[in-house]
Amino acid sequence: MSENEREIIRMVVAVDGPAGSGKSSVSRAAARVLGFDYQDSGAAYRALAWNALEHGVDTEDADAVIASLPGFRYDIGTDPDDYYVRVDETDVTEAIREPRVTAVVSAVARIPVVRAYLVSLFREVIEGSARPGIITEGRDITTVVSPDANVRILLTATEEARMARRSAEIPRESATVVAQQLSFRDAQDSRVVDFMNAAEGVTTLDSTDLDFDQTVQAVVALVRNARVD
Ligand code: C5P
Repeated sequence: MSENEREIIRMVVAVDGPAGSGKSSVSRAAARVLGFDYQDSGAAYRALAWNALEHGVDTEDADAVIASLPGFRYDIGTDPDDYYVRVDETDVTEAIREPRVTAVVSAVARIPVVRAYLVSLFREVIEGSARPGIITEGRDITTVVSPDANVRILLTATEEARMARRSAEIPRESATVVAQQLSFRDAQDSRVVDFMNAAEGVTTLDSTDLDFDQTVQAVVALVRNARVD
């Protein structure tokens, strides 16, 4: 650990951005470089949507989704080298990325009771982190979950760049279908939280012309340059 990293005591880093901005992989890689924990908040919304589908809950029925919350046993790995998502004892790390889950996750995420429930869960994970810091990424981390975070970043890229990246991640699907799904989900999600415009005090990092490593380095630099009060 470098002298610089030793000085960083329990830093809280918040990263928001739209789908395909690379925030998950970038945040995880930056956490690895910094020796921090990493929290993927979208995974919780996805896991809840998966759980609803698994139990035949209508994801359009807010009351039914809310009724599923007490039985929702969710666990996430925050070590960037040991990432997993579990519901009860089932490993759903891969399953929550399936198109059937992606298609319904926004419906679950727009329910205010669900958001309040998961926001407090995210804060518990942040507070419980035993590492020198934690990077949490999502849509409302800089504004709702952790508005007092030491470093707040909005990771953006042009729609074209985001679609190209997401399409490369899912080579089985046609680029047109991937693009349509991505803009549909962004449109639905942005009715609930604004993750396209940086809130006051949030640093915008445009990754359109940066490759993956350059983006990770830019995040790491923002963290290293931040001073802990
Ligand atoms: O980040 P990811 O694409 O996995 O997020 C899945 C979904 O979870 C988003 O489309 C959004 O509906 C929801 N989400 C959210 N707030 C967050 C993170 C994710 O509403 N902080």
